[in-house]
Amino acid sequence: MAQRPYIVGNWKMNGTRAMLPEARAIDRAAQRHMKVEVAVAPPYTLIHAVHREAEQIGVGAQDCSPDPDGAHTGDISASMLADAGAKFVILGHSERRQAYGETSEQVNAKAVAALEVGIRVIICCGEPLDVREAGKAEDYVAKQLQASLPAIEDAGEKVTVAYEPIWAIGTGKTATNDDIAAMHAMIRELLNKRYGEDQSADVRILYGGSVKPENAAEILGTAEVGGALVGGASLTADSFMGIALAASETEEG
Ligand code: PEP
Repeated sequence: MAQRPYIVGNWKMNGTRAMLPEARAIDRAAQRHMKVEVAVAPPYTLIHAVHREAEQIGVGAQDCSPDPDGAHTGDISASMLADAGAKFVILGHSERRQAYGETSEQVNAKAVAALEVGIRVIICCGEPLDVREAGKAEDYVAKQLQASLPAIEDAGEKVTVAYEPIWAIGTGKTATNDDIAAMHAMIRELLNKRYGEDQSADVRILYGGSVKPENAAEILGTAEVGGALVGGASLTADSFMGIALAASETEEG
């Protein structure tokens, strides 16, 4: 895979300024793992402060508005994120799809808005448990991605996909290696068709769902897994960088 493994922490609605020393510790540790691209997405309120602390890690957001500005109380536009120092945004996380009924078409519009101001996007997809049990996980994820992925020419550097089976998020359950490999292979095929093989080769497909230092090496060693989107285990430098270390060792092979 052409790109470095990408390890992204999604802090969700966790963190006040008291988390800044943890961000500093993650940044310092990331300087020892240059073969891995490490990034965190803190809540909006911390983006600027974490950006100021960060010398090595990327700093991003967990959502953005599809609109550029105006009467959208409570929303944050992509250009505001860029102004605060965000370099990427996580879009279509299942918690937002579930809690706010966010559709793939809205995710697509948000991605277009972010890319327009130079912010890279991480597009999330993943099936609920009943869909997996009905044997329809790949169809479900393919439909979700077809509608969520923005139509752009140079997707390679700008788009990342995160496959996160909903039943594995925050539950301690992870998909089997065979299931991860099959889903990531399907996603790669879809990306090849959508963006062309040259661009697709640089689009990393992250796995997310209860990734921890203990299971990271196995997951990251699975075919077509280009990194991890990490929730709970990204909240301390120790556990998050344990995952980055596993990614670094996977690279050294
Ligand atoms: C997530 O919410 O993106 C996630 C993967 O969470 P966790 O690692 O806690 O399962």
